[in-house]
Amino acid sequence: MVDLSFSDWKSRAAGLSFRGQAFIDGKFVDAVSGRTFDSINPANGSVLTAVAECDAEDVNLAVAAGRRAFEDGRWSRMAPGDRKAVLLKLADLIRANLTEMALLDSLDMGKLVTDAVTVDAPGSAHFFQWYAEATDKVYDEVAPTGPGDLALVSRVPLGVVGAVTPWNFPLDMATWKAAAALAAGNSVVLKPAEQSPLSALRLAELAAEAGVPDGVFNVVPGFGHTAGQALGLHMDVDCLAFTGSTGIGKKFMEYSGQSNLKQVWPETGGKSPNLVFADCEDLDTAADMAAFGIFFNQGEVCSANSRLYVERSIKDAFVEKLIARAEGMQPGDPLDPSSKMGAIVDEKQTQGIMKFVEAGNASANLVTGGARHYVDGKGCFVQPTIFDDVSHDNPLARDEIFGPVLSVIAFDSEDEAVHMANDSIYGLAASVWTDNLSRACRVADRLHVGTVSVNTVDALSAQTPFGGMKQSGFGRDLSLHSLEKYTGLKTTWIKYKT
Ligand code: NAD
Repeated sequence: MVDLSFSDWKSRAAGLSFRGQAFIDGKFVDAVSGRTFDSINPANGSVLTAVAECDAEDVNLAVAAGRRAFEDGRWSRMAPGDRKAVLLKLADLIRANLTEMALLDSLDMGKLVTDAVTVDAPGSAHFFQWYAEATDKVYDEVAPTGPGDLALVSRVPLGVVGAVTPWNFPLDMATWKAAAALAAGNSVVLKPAEQSPLSALRLAELAAEAGVPDGVFNVVPGFGHTAGQALGLHMDVDCLAFTGSTGIGKKFMEYSGQSNLKQVWPETGGKSPNLVFADCEDLDTAADMAAFGIFFNQGEVCSANSRLYVERSIKDAFVEKLIARAEGMQPGDPLDPSSKMGAIVDEKQTQGIMKFVEAGNASANLVTGGARHYVDGKGCFVQPTIFDDVSHDNPLARDEIFGPVLSVIAFDSEDEAVHMANDSIYGLAASVWTDNLSRACRVADRLHVGTVSVNTVDALSAQTPFGGMKQSGFGRDLSLHSLEKYTGLKTTWIKYKT
């Protein structure tokens, strides 16, 4: 439990040193071109550090280092128990550097440092530990072929895994990919989002300290259309794990077709529905969680519960409860433990959110929020915002806003609620609030999404797969299912004399 004051966090932030170079083959290096870009703190516009602007040349070097490491077996053929020990040490090192890891994400992309230090950074350590422990507990198969033949069916690492990640949970998204891919014995080349590369670079350094051999875990910061595309098109990358927007997920599928048919695992956008039925007895908890479901992490959550469907008989009372909660969640300095929401990742994203809000003002009923907010006259902050009486076909209810903007829609029947919830190009997650068990099971069954949370929101754990359906993509992070995507099935036949 970390209990630091605002001034403690500020003085720790002032004392931080940032690693901005790429991490390739076990060393921090400049981009071959020598170019850099600025990493900016969205809470106040200050430049944190210059970061290496990697492009195709750097990606080539990182992939070559990953390939060399894979082929000589320094990690890929290490005994599973030994790989486990290294990854467990990495989990310990993340815990030992918890406040630093939390600060890196908070400063880089604006999330509350109290969330980063209680959710993101411990989550990263936990996920590394979970996959470390799995390495020597997953067995392969012997096929029932009969006498004279021994057919072994084993899961083998794929080779070099490219990972391209977004900025909303920088450390955790890097971890979800790297922990499983490394545990399976692959080499990894990670391209973090250009808005938030700092925690991934520090993670690579901690991995090396834990004993991950040179070349096995590389980080190439840079832009999507250069470094990201180079990884997607690379002829020697075997698998590309992507988390980000649906449009870029589709591009990675094309890159694969244009290059070497690498496996692509897209985990993309969402517009998750939250269905509140009048037979839910604890509407206060439902309102607490509905507010959390959209305002946590400034609404920059792929599975954010951004469409709220409420049974008409309780809708007005429920919206009143939500307004009270939203008004208690005003944004503030991300390093101040009393702040309830942090900063939006950058100016571009802030302006994109405000465009939706401005259009919404003309087409729906704004009941709270709807404006930018500034801390000491600066920063990218947006008030928690709720629109009521949103029509089902309004862009507010259809498009992924990726900000703290909730659309409320009334429904009159279970069928209508399910129909509206499913009428979306996305299918990442959904929540259902009811005390009627049969209804909970029936509705959960009919929702076309990757995860349904009943009487809670956004439930997830290392033990359960996370990912979507429809245009939310088909990759799955977490659980042993994620290990499957970083391995190939190999059959080995052995003839013997009976
Ligand atoms: P984004 O798609 O713009 O960027 C994601 C990554 O792709 C970044 O590293 C970026 O540099 C790279 N990229 C961008 N253009 C590229 C190109 N032309 N070629 C190759 N790479 C490119 O997404 P974002 O704005 O960083 O993140 C927000 C999105 O991520 C939202 O849509 C959100 O729903 C999604 N997301 C999904 C999940 C999930 O598990 N399904 C989790 C978190 C975020």
